[in-house]
Amino acid sequence: MTIFVGGCSCGQLEYKLTREPIVTHVCHCTLCQRYSGSAFIVHSMIEKSNVVITHGILSETVGPSKRGKGHTIKRCTTCGDQIYSQFEGLNRIIVLKTTTLNEPSRFPPQAHIYVRSKLPWVELSGVIPVFEEFYRREDIYTHEGLKRLDSLKP
Ligand SMILES: [Zn+2]
Ligand SMILES: [Zn+2]
Repeated sequence: MTIFVGGCSCGQLEYKLTREPIVTHVCHCTLCQRYSGSAFIVHSMIEKSNVVITHGILSETVGPSKRGKGHTIKRCTTCGDQIYSQFEGLNRIIVLKTTTLNEPSRFPPQAHIYVRSKLPWVELSGVIPVFEEFYRREDIYTHEGLKRLDSLKP
């Protein structure tokens, strides 16, 4: 089994993924810009059952989400770094902050989303599909990814 390790900047929080993520995308929405204090966030969807906290304790903050559903951000208790998000009604899916992985380059994104609010100096080459808002999952997910997602629906 391949294991992918990640954690926060202070080192208190460590986790591992026991499987590769279902999908990875870059979000340029204004909320992600605020949450990250940066130009965009890289997010990977993965089953909660495939994420194991191996060291440290998570705390959580609650914030708004683009679709108006409740959005909980799990953070390192000590440094406050965001580790993953969870959305109301999707308890079995984790939205991991991909760049908290030790080797985030292993999971390049399949899409850029909310590019309508992308900062103008962020240049996208067009190799990866871009969407003004969100994509249709069938257009981006692999066949296996869709099956994994469907098996998590309540
Ligand atoms: Zn920390
Ligand atoms: Zn976003």
